[in-house]
Amino acid sequence: MACVDIGGTKVAVQVVDDQGVRGKVAEPTATTGGNDALALQIIRLVGQSCAAAGVPVQAIARVGVSSCGPFVLNQGLVELAAPNICGGQAGPARGLPNDWKTALLEAPLRAAFGHVRVENDGIGALEAERRWGALQDQGVPMANCAYVTWSTGIGTGVCVDGHVLRGKNGNAGHAGHIFVSDNNTALCGCGNVGDVEGLIAGNALARRFAPEGYANAAILFEAIYAGDERAIAIIDDVCQVMGRMLYSMIATLDLARISIGGSVYWHHRNYLLPRLRAAVQGKLPPLTEGCELVSAGLGERVGDFGALALVA
Ligand SMILES: [Zn+2]
Repeated sequence: MACVDIGGTKVAVQVVDDQGVRGKVAEPTATTGGNDALALQIIRLVGQSCAAAGVPVQAIARVGVSSCGPFVLNQGLVELAAPNICGGQAGPARGLPNDWKTALLEAPLRAAFGHVRVENDGIGALEAERRWGALQDQGVPMANCAYVTWSTGIGTGVCVDGHVLRGKNGNAGHAGHIFVSDNNTALCGCGNVGDVEGLIAGNALARRFAPEGYANAAILFEAIYAGDERAIAIIDDVCQVMGRMLYSMIATLDLARISIGGSVYWHHRNYLLPRLRAAVQGKLPPLTEGCELVSAGLGERVGDFGALALVA
């Protein structure tokens, strides 16, 4: 099997067999050439990964791909429509070296390898947490749960009644783009103003609070730990926004547990988790009392296990 992680800046490939995971190779995500460039890059990297691991390429029977989204389907097969990879999405102003509306993905990989499973990285992480992390109950994957990543962006993966939700194009779980506030200054990459990602994603914290002297999330939290009242008030508001997003997910989906990861959350989880719990607690108790908020069981490695969880 091969595991492929596609991010806006990097593509990583590893192979897996009964001897374990190995042959990791990674490159900057291809953004030049035809719109099959990314798929060709992945096919080449699978070859390199096999060579590094001493596995013949012909032995690769399954490929799991965990990718940043969003996706569109073309004749039932996933193509990537990520605005940070496809220059044709946002137009020339974005400065990407291509005019792709989409990047081909599933069709060329299927032609090369046969069985291919492509999911958005929120779903990959959710599956990893259900199999090996915090979203298990006595070793069994939980039926009603979600994973939330709070990082440069905000993404989720959701499972209800034992079904991982995918939606019409595999984009279910883009909960970072819901509205929980009437802010009219925080522009999100999706084009909306004042949605959750526009307000509190890692890149949004840097953009919004640099003018107040906090250049990024790390500096904001350093100020908090030093007792800076202004920074404390900022993060109280930020926790209110994330808490409302979590509450909205619980109220909509009747979840039993949400595990949270991602770099912004992970580095400050001891500070953030009690505040997120407090933001949810006491609201509509029949729904919220039976839902735990926890830190990701796989910690900082959730992303590494996403693609593996799709094919293992
Ligand atoms: Zn948005």
